[in-house]
Amino acid sequence: MKSKISLTMVVLVSIIFFVGLRGGFSLKIDVHEILRENGAHIELDLSERLEDLDMSDTGCDFDSPVAFKGMISNVKGILKLTGRLKLDYTAKCYRCLKEVKCSMDIGIEENFVKSETEKDDESYLYEGDYIEIDKPLKDNILLELPMKHVCEEECRGICPKCGCDLNSTQCDCTEESTDPRLEGLKDFFKN
Ligand SMILES: [Zn+2]
Ligand SMILES: [Zn+2]
Repeated sequence: MKSKISLTMVVLVSIIFFVGLRGGFSLKIDVHEILRENGAHIELDLSERLEDLDMSDTGCDFDSPVAFKGMISNVKGILKLTGRLKLDYTAKCYRCLKEVKCSMDIGIEENFVKSETEKDDESYLYEGDYIEIDKPLKDNILLELPMKHVCEEECRGICPKCGCDLNSTQCDCTEESTDPRLEGLKDFFKN
């Protein structure tokens, strides 16, 4: 008795709520319409700041909004989140500590399941009529984030002795400075 039209039903993003929870931030999406219909989907096109998501431990500033374009589809009761996420952020060069402007563009593909029994390590749980997509988006960002950022491959860093920026300054101590790992060897050869 279900109409073909509702299979391709598109519910616009007016049903997104931003709810402050335990000081955090959540992108809640009402999925009750698509839960009724296998194959139905919701299109998403959002641009949100991640400032309230706790990303401080990354050492990067996520100062511009995260753009996400994609959809949530009901595939036999499993809600599939697919799409592309783009964001700009500021990191610090690990050699000279200068700010580095970076950007990320990643494909997202995550599953939400209703019960713990269907859940594997890769999927997320949903409850009731809502799914919260901030956690999978954040997880994807963290996974994609490089361990180290460098302003440019040739960056010479800062002098470990006087702290000057070796990209713009040439200090006198650079010649003497040795790799601390080699200090021990130097003593060894002296004896
Ligand atoms: Zn640098
Ligand atoms: Zn120096």
